[in-house]
Amino acid sequence: MNHLRTLMAKSFDYIVIGGGSGGLGSARRAATLGANVMVIEHKRLGGTCVNVGCVPKKVMFNAAVHAEYLKDHEGYCFEVQDKGYAFNWNAMKQKRDAYVKRLNDIYYANLERDKVTLVRGEAKFTGPKEVTVNGEKYTAEHILVATGGHPKMDANIVGIEHAISSDGFFELEKQPKNVVVVGAGYIAVELSGIFNALGSKVNLLIRGKTVLRRFDSMIGEALTEELKSSGVNLISDCGVREITKEGETMTVHLGCSGGDNKIAGVDCVLYAIGREPNTSNIGLDVAGVKVRPSGHIVVDEFQNTSTSGIYALGDVCGKAELTPVAIAAGRKLAHRLFDKQSNLRLDYENIPSVVFSHPPIGSIGITEKEAIDKHGSENVKIYKTEFLPMYYQMVSHKSRMKMKLVCVGPTEKVVGLHMIGLGADEMLQGFGVAVKMGATKKDFDSCVAIHPTQSEEFVTMR
Ligand SMILES: Cc1cc2nc3c(=O)[nH]c(=O)nc-3n(C[C@H](O)[C@H](O)[C@H](O)COP(=O)(O)OP(=O)(O)OC[C@H]3O[C@@H](n4cnc5c(N)ncnc54)[C@H](O)[C@@H]3O)c2cc1C
Repeated sequence: MNHLRTLMAKSFDYIVIGGGSGGLGSARRAATLGANVMVIEHKRLGGTCVNVGCVPKKVMFNAAVHAEYLKDHEGYCFEVQDKGYAFNWNAMKQKRDAYVKRLNDIYYANLERDKVTLVRGEAKFTGPKEVTVNGEKYTAEHILVATGGHPKMDANIVGIEHAISSDGFFELEKQPKNVVVVGAGYIAVELSGIFNALGSKVNLLIRGKTVLRRFDSMIGEALTEELKSSGVNLISDCGVREITKEGETMTVHLGCSGGDNKIAGVDCVLYAIGREPNTSNIGLDVAGVKVRPSGHIVVDEFQNTSTSGIYALGDVCGKAELTPVAIAAGRKLAHRLFDKQSNLRLDYENIPSVVFSHPPIGSIGITEKEAIDKHGSENVKIYKTEFLPMYYQMVSHKSRMKMKLVCVGPTEKVVGLHMIGLGADEMLQGFGVAVKMGATKKDFDSCVAIHPTQSEEFVTMR
């Protein structure tokens, strides 16, 4: 009997490769719709977000925000009566790891409750409808690839083996004193901000002049200035030539537009130069699934790959690489496949996104430049404001808030909303609903302001 079982492939309605945000979202929804579902995961349940992404990152962001508030206590007339506070990185790591472990266990319990079969191991296609894990074959009418991605490292740099990625950030047992962060995207600025607020010396190397170049220029320019004024040594137009290790510390040799240079006495080099999809080792060629030159899986708007019955979503497709995007796409796919909602798909337009930088950033829709390119400058109206939030009136550290509405056409439809400053992270979701609904500037103006807040500026802009 056992022999027969190993010879015959086990059959499911739905096989999901990858127990991360998108995979679990889709698998659990499909199971609640009555499908016989199997999830294959070779690492920890929850994927990037739970283990080495959003969750532990936000815990560290919260710690960093605490550090900033501590500096403001005197401004708000709290007298410092003892030696103050010292941050214990290792204790924080242990608490954070324990929290992540609790989440891993909850994800496991959720799968059990929803009667999803979990197989631990690395999945590989051995046919268009067949996946092999640990030598066992499994088949399904529908197979989802939600294998996510991993940090990109620059293999051409001599000494790159001394550097860590964002994954390595979450393994640091003690706080580095002198860090070099390489990259200008959201992960680079978020981790730089955390290190800096918690007291590490941060050198941020960027290739261009500003960080976050994919965002509205107002955002990138403002954050670049904020990073500098908060003490980050931001080195622009610069790249790494070589990393050398001398005992406990490293030297990062730089090639900059103004000439070569070096940073010595570094105890952590962190690369955050982008992410690559996990597609190279899963037998996509055997299944006939097409990938782009970047390795990302080609999908249509319904998450169909080039092979019928095989779907892909989340980071492995390289579009809007965010947890809620992967979850939403996964759930919608489950309804399409197992709930007869044949036209259901995720609308990738107007996805709100937040950067947990210092100060935070919120953004939805298109940038000013994209609006002009798309609609012509004569059809675009920009509303902008810049001010010092009331909170900073009492403290020595100042951080200005900047906001922008990008409006188009005679109705002044709001097609872009961008902000940087105190509270932007929690402010965006509600405005996101308005933009998604197609609100105009007049709709914004018709909503009475909440005073005194930062957000009221969005409904009072002239
Ligand atoms: C530092 C950092 C911070 C982030 N912060 C945020 C944030 O604040 N907000 C936000 O929305 N997003 C954030 N993200 C992005 C977010 O984590 C991803 O967009 C999200 O996890 C993508 O989900 P996914 O299901 O596509 O992939 P993942 O969550 O990565 O899941 C893929 C899973 O597939 C597994 N797998 C891969 N290959 C195989 C195989 N062959 N067999 C079996 N299993 C396999 C992997 O082990 C993994 O568990 C962050 C990412 C990083 C790196």
